[in-house]
Amino acid sequence: MHARIEQAAMPHDEAGESFFRELVEHGLIIPSQVDGVVGRGARFEEVLNRFDALVLRSDDGQRAEAPMFPPVIERRILEKLHYLDTFPHLCGSVHSFFGDPRQALRLATRARQGERWGEELEQTDVVLAPAACYPLYPTLAGVLPPQGRLVTLIGWAYRHEPSREPTRMQSFRVREIIRVGDPDTVLAWRDAWHVRARDLLDALGLPIVSEVASDPFFGRGGMMLAQSQKAAKLKFEIQVPIFDAAQPTAVCSFNLHQDHFGKAFDIRTADGQVAHSACLGFGMERVVMALFRHHGMQTDDWPAAVRALLWP
Ligand code: ZN
Repeated sequence: MHARIEQAAMPHDEAGESFFRELVEHGLIIPSQVDGVVGRGARFEEVLNRFDALVLRSDDGQRAEAPMFPPVIERRILEKLHYLDTFPHLCGSVHSFFGDPRQALRLATRARQGERWGEELEQTDVVLAPAACYPLYPTLAGVLPPQGRLVTLIGWAYRHEPSREPTRMQSFRVREIIRVGDPDTVLAWRDAWHVRARDLLDALGLPIVSEVASDPFFGRGGMMLAQSQKAAKLKFEIQVPIFDAAQPTAVCSFNLHQDHFGKAFDIRTADGQVAHSACLGFGMERVVMALFRHHGMQTDDWPAAVRALLWP
């Protein structure tokens, strides 16, 4: 079934470009002039929504609270989490124009003449959400119910990492499930989902690999953070080879935050302890790309067992 990838002994970049072209030719993605920013075709979206529905049919998907947040979040959330200490290179900040008519004319003239015009703008109170779950935590401030909270949401995440690699987008959706409560409950929940998510992706005919992983922290200090994150097994990824058998792509990640969000936003358990949290996220576009890669560009031809799950 995976012969397509094993045959593709092309260099990584070339294999990525070739897969990108294939997706474009089949109308699944719509390229733009900016690397890592693409439109999605209707068939791509249909598969994405059907996979999302499959996740939501799980027990937790049905039980969880399901709020929705916009793709911009309060700037103070990044500040409270010290996001810029660790991921300054990924941040997307929203700036706007606050000036007078004279400055407005200068802004418009610069833009018209193809000059840079960012200096004419000022920082606003919002940034692009770097993770779908970030807007949730401030809303949990205070004392949790005895059983903690279980929440699911889908949201757009922004990461400033322009790349021609089709699976590395600047703006993409993540379906997350988030558990907040006492440390034992949260850890057991994360471990149970690690198995559940593997079973789910396996049932969809995807060749999965599970790895202890780390976040792409910035700079030299970041290497140490990544090592300690790995040593404490705070992050796992489920990876699937998409266009390069040697370098599989993470399609789902599990993050144990310990008391990081509980401390930052004063979230407490019913017995007064700082709450722990964990989340899992399916990279929706990556799952969809993996499905098209492994089952072919025509969904009608996908294996019956896979179709039965997605088109129940
Ligand atoms: Zn999350």
